[in-house]
Amino acid sequence: TESWSSASTDSAISTESPSANGPFTVVLLGDSGVGKSALASIFAGAADSMDIDCELYGGDICEQNVMVDGETATVSLLDTWETQDEDSCSQERCLQSGDAYIIVYSITDRSSFLRASELRIRLRRVRQADHTPIILVGNKCDLVRCREVSVSEGRSCAAVFDCKFIETSAAMQHNVWPLFEGIVRQLRLRRDSAET
Ligand code: GDP
Ligand code: MG
Repeated sequence: TESWSSASTDSAISTESPSANGPFTVVLLGDSGVGKSALASIFAGAADSMDIDCELYGGDICEQNVMVDGETATVSLLDTWETQDEDSCSQERCLQSGDAYIIVYSITDRSSFLRASELRIRLRRVRQADHTPIILVGNKCDLVRCREVSVSEGRSCAAVFDCKFIETSAAMQHNVWPLFEGIVRQLRLRRDSAET
């Protein structure tokens, strides 16, 4: 489903408004070991990266200018989920601070897939009725022999939860940039439709 792209995009504002190109805060969520930091380090490895150590989150935040569809967007990627205390207060703050969310599971670990669903439900509770872009990511798709979650299971989970879906391999650098580009496109559509 193309729920975000169905928003009106017929305005000339889209290329002129600075907010259509960020800065956007994108938050990585998911179980330990699924590859969040591996994905974040690929993002950080791009040209002119600027690492920011932000005490507020106590974790890794990387701000990056990324070129998508001929325009530069500024994205801050937060790999801070696991450094949050288990107390729901700081996790709740994390769940409220994003302009978009990447929920990562490992295709080799069914429990991480179930955790991804839980996170989606928590996110929906915190961010009720807003259309924050969310992408469900099945990482480690290079490990074909260890697969525990099929592509169609991932895809139908995303359909149920009304979010996008992509399988990636941080190890092989497969689909990682399409993931980040897809998020920027969704964020631009959201900003455009919010302004018109
Ligand atoms: P995090 O806890 O979610 O931040 O996960 P990490 O990024 O630390 O990754 C956990 C482990 O999985 C590390 O040993 C990574 O090298 C490995 N890993 C991450 N992504 C991939 C992938 O796409 N394929 C494979 N084979 N291993 C991966
Ligand atoms: Mg990590």
